[in-house]
Amino acid sequence: MSHIALPSPDLAILQRRNDILKQLKKLVPGAILITDQEGRRTFETDALTAYRCLPLAVVLPQTTEEVSAILRFCQENHIKVVPRGAGTSPSGGALPLEDAIVLCLTRMNKVLAVDLVNRVARVEAGITNSSITDAVAADGYFYAPDPSSQIACTVGGNVATNSGGAHCLKYGVTTNNVLGVRIVLMSGEIVDIGGPSLDPAGYDFLALIVGSEGQLGIVTEVTVRLLKAAEGARPMLMGFESNEAAGSCVAGIIAAGIIPVALEFMDRPAIHVCEHFVAAGYPLDVEALLIVEVQGSEDEIDTLLEKIGEIAEDFNPTMMRRSGSAEESAKIWKGRKAAFGAIGQLSDYYCMDGVIPLSKLPKALDEIGWICRKYRFDVANIFHAGDGNLHPLILYNANDPLQLERVELCGAEILKLCVELGGCLTGEHGVGIEKRELMRVQFSDTDLSQQMRVKAAFDPDWLLNPGKVFPLEGIGLQ
Ligand SMILES: Cc1cc2nc3c(=O)[nH]c(=O)nc-3n(C[C@H](O)[C@H](O)[C@H](O)COP(=O)(O)OP(=O)(O)OC[C@H]3O[C@@H](n4cnc5c(N)ncnc54)[C@H](O)[C@@H]3O)c2cc1C
Repeated sequence: MSHIALPSPDLAILQRRNDILKQLKKLVPGAILITDQEGRRTFETDALTAYRCLPLAVVLPQTTEEVSAILRFCQENHIKVVPRGAGTSPSGGALPLEDAIVLCLTRMNKVLAVDLVNRVARVEAGITNSSITDAVAADGYFYAPDPSSQIACTVGGNVATNSGGAHCLKYGVTTNNVLGVRIVLMSGEIVDIGGPSLDPAGYDFLALIVGSEGQLGIVTEVTVRLLKAAEGARPMLMGFESNEAAGSCVAGIIAAGIIPVALEFMDRPAIHVCEHFVAAGYPLDVEALLIVEVQGSEDEIDTLLEKIGEIAEDFNPTMMRRSGSAEESAKIWKGRKAAFGAIGQLSDYYCMDGVIPLSKLPKALDEIGWICRKYRFDVANIFHAGDGNLHPLILYNANDPLQLERVELCGAEILKLCVELGGCLTGEHGVGIEKRELMRVQFSDTDLSQQMRVKAAFDPDWLLNPGKVFPLEGIGLQ
């Protein structure tokens, strides 16, 4: 395992450590403060497990006012802060720094208000994504963004990374489903941005906060849009002889003007691992599998699946099977949603998260296979194909430093390919530490410098989640 090379710790802060912790304890007696080594160890990494770092301390507040007091104190004492939800970020976004406190929001997990007439809910940022839908499902509503990590990840983390999910093709990602946030700035000021109405006046600061990876403020409350659940939904499985044929079929479906609710891709290694793990009923004699789900009345579902089947015929599918029952549908989705965990049981993996234009999907899949062979790694591809968001999982041994170095080069080549094909570096996992040096592939120094000026406007002393998103050296604030 590696320890990341981040800016060296401020010695003065380390020496004042005990004093600082004592003051923090006094300042927010209601918050949990973890200072012992074993307790801090729990927070030393996120889903980018190759990198670990013990934080100075971990604080778990329970109110926005506590978050405000902590940030004000940290600002006054020049202490760095790493915001954290559930720590499921595969890009190292929540990786601690040894001279920073981790501010973890998971105790702020309440639904504050549900307004079904206006179809909104106000929740605390540490609530898990799936708990929002759980709270309104009995009334026939749901919160649309559904990351595969939804039983663990928090809505604050979703806002910070602009999360997507299998069902975002039709309903949009987090930015399309969040109406407002309450954030606390590093100065301790509490700011409300947006709100329950659709189009608030003034600058669109909400667009700035969604996807800001804990760089601008700490989100403590989120107002989300609720949607009425569809009358019914049914997935269909379609198998193909090659990744390229399945990729072309995805492009063909979207080009025909059909937007299914979900259109997911799995290649042969992924199919086999998931089938073994969950017994989802996937065919084992295909090279690539598409899960396509449509919603509506029974008649609408039948008509749409019929049309999709006709389009697929052009790409020579080797099998097509519609789900015949709610149980079968649930099993199909259980297999897909368990995919990362299933592969994680077999091997360490390095999860990429690039985006490409849909028309380039067959070429991208072909080149990804070629790049992984060049670096001598096996790869499993599982992703939200309908919106071009690729997730090649490169299998490697994280305990071997040489393999770690090689897998990072391999991943970087894949992400550069995504940019070259007209796409971008991240779809939904954020930049974190993983892609910060690659930001130069996508943005000019002038672009990056402007982005850093935005960060500096919110956090002039650069104390909030430093060392993430931007290349570590070479770019100043012009
Ligand atoms: C198995 C698996 C499957 C996944 N599937 C998907 C998927 O389908 N779609 C998808 O989009 N992602 C997916 N992810 C990635 C991850 O779950 C998401 O990025 C998620 O939004 C992270 O939420 P979190 O609460 O775990 O945040 P963390 O990992 O704790 O933090 C992520 C980033 O957000 C910042 N942050 C966290 N909370 C706050 C806050 N309250 N205020 C300000 N900044 C904050 C952190 O500083 C960090 O930069 C998956 C991850 C795993 C491990």
